[in-house]
Amino acid sequence: MSLSVSTGKAWDDVATILRRSLTRQQFETWFRGMRIVHLDEQRAEFTVPNNFLREWIRKKYLGLLRSAMHEAVAGHPEIDIRVAAETYAPAPPAEPAPVPHGEDPAALRSDIILNRQYTFDTFVAGPSNNLAHAAAMAVAETPGKSYNPLFLHGAVGLGKTHLLQAVCHRILDRRPEMRILYLSCETFTNHFVAAVAHGELESFRYRYRHVDLLLIDDIHLLANKDRTQEEFFHTFNTLYNANKQIVLSSDSTPAEIPTLEERLVSRFKWGMVARIDQPGYETRTAIISRKVEMHGIPFPDEVIRFLGENIRSNIRELEGVVNKIAGIAHIYKRPVDMETAREAIRDLLPSRPNRVSIDGIIRTVSDHYAVRISDLHSKKRTKSIAFPRQICMYLARCLTSHSLEEIGGYFGGRDHTTVMYAFDKISRQAKKEPALTQTLERLTAEISS
Ligand code: ADP
Ligand code: MG
Repeated sequence: MSLSVSTGKAWDDVATILRRSLTRQQFETWFRGMRIVHLDEQRAEFTVPNNFLREWIRKKYLGLLRSAMHEAVAGHPEIDIRVAAETYAPAPPAEPAPVPHGEDPAALRSDIILNRQYTFDTFVAGPSNNLAHAAAMAVAETPGKSYNPLFLHGAVGLGKTHLLQAVCHRILDRRPEMRILYLSCETFTNHFVAAVAHGELESFRYRYRHVDLLLIDDIHLLANKDRTQEEFFHTFNTLYNANKQIVLSSDSTPAEIPTLEERLVSRFKWGMVARIDQPGYETRTAIISRKVEMHGIPFPDEVIRFLGENIRSNIRELEGVVNKIAGIAHIYKRPVDMETAREAIRDLLPSRPNRVSIDGIIRTVSDHYAVRISDLHSKKRTKSIAFPRQICMYLARCLTSHSLEEIGGYFGGRDHTTVMYAFDKISRQAKKEPALTQTLERLTAEISS
């Protein structure tokens, strides 16, 4: 390798390559102060302004740096990063802490542009999310006064982000004087880490502690981030003590967030903790109808029912399918029908093994609970039979693609609401009883084998 290139030119080339794989913010945060100070066949020596950056780059970006280097100088020099304490020009004096009022209010409001659709008007409330919905509305009505903090938790795709943003929309609309900061936990963490790296903690703190509402999405990502947790703890206290509203969302309860410090766990429980569950059939169909209205392309009731029965896992998926169907109808200029609907959800179904038959389920369950197959098919309501029958319905719903009506047909001609009821009941019970979850897993394994 000939190394006639100057170190300055080499760094420019490496930087250009790095920029291709990084966001502007990432590059600015981590690589802004980096230089190449020595380059030969064996060794490329980089400098960065401080130890923190050095460790961070070594931990997170070494691979990227190596491949950028390889591409830029067409060789494999060893990479060395050291702190350029003596050579590095001191940073310009820290900017004065930003003043929220008058300056640039938009910049303070949010780092994530709000989705215009995520309002209370477009949110469908139902038994699975009633509490979360009502609490979010209350918070938007009287921030800092109703529930503080409001902690929403639930599985992915069930509407947490939607509700957080709905609160933002409402406040922007009705209380424009309020200072809102809405962001993901990841952004909070990145800001914090960058603030530490650049010695800008003061303005970081000013920014986070002078708001009327702080909404942080996916707060469970604080897991394993000790220093960020510590910082957040103080942010929380400052805002809380000033009666400022805090809203958090998470994929689990405060206590279930791994390695979350106890003092944060307890604070998260001070106000209101509201869980969002998977929506039942009625809510699902209501959501589908709402999404369909937004498209302005009519879906037959049959299609809406079919989607409501078959897509249960999360609402994002439901929405995706509605979009897909509406898209197909739009492109091919044909009305929405069952065929399009079946086609659209086909990709979503193969995760459920098709080979499983309801008869297979009934056989396995009858063995396990020592009840007669004919009793499971019957209308008998004795508890010793009704329970295994509900297990059958639950499994049929999870493991086959039969409709609720079809499943009901196998069990004494019951209608779809009975199957729904059985499904919800067993789901709820399994959440509370690990033993039942285990049984269901065992049965599933047996049925699928
Ligand atoms: P999460 O943040 O819990 O993962 P999101 O808030 O991103 O979920 O919701 C996923 C999608 O489902 C969004 O497009 C959202 O608008 C939609 N959604 C979720 N719950 C509802 C609801 N109750 N009514 C209407 N749309 C909903
Ligand atoms: Mg979300």
